Amino acid sequence: MPICDQCGHPWSRKDVWKKLSIQARGTCPACGKMQYVTASSRKRGSKYMMIVFLILIAQAVFDIPLWGSIAMLFALFFILMIFVIPNVYKLTSEQEPLY
Ligand SMILES: [Zn+2]
Repeated sequence: MPICDQCGHPWSRKDVWKKLSIQARGTCPACGKMQYVTASSRKRGSKYMMIVFLILIAQAVFDIPLWGSIAMLFALFFILMIFVIPNVYKLTSEQEPLY
């Protein structure tokens, strides 16, 4: 789980989803300080998102029906949200440029 860079409070899975899934930043539930997802963990997170493109390519190559690949994308999205994102994301108090 990500830990607040300011006060060391470990964020819960719910906080991560609520605050970090749409924007890569949010206020700490314990100290209220704005926290940002570090550039390196954002890059790592986007590598997992590449799997989504691989599924789309696989769908075209192996002629998987569209509903099949949509179901796979949904399953993958949930796996990413539940298992990957809370473990990959790290927090920092300063916003870091991505590149
Ligand atoms: Zn905090």
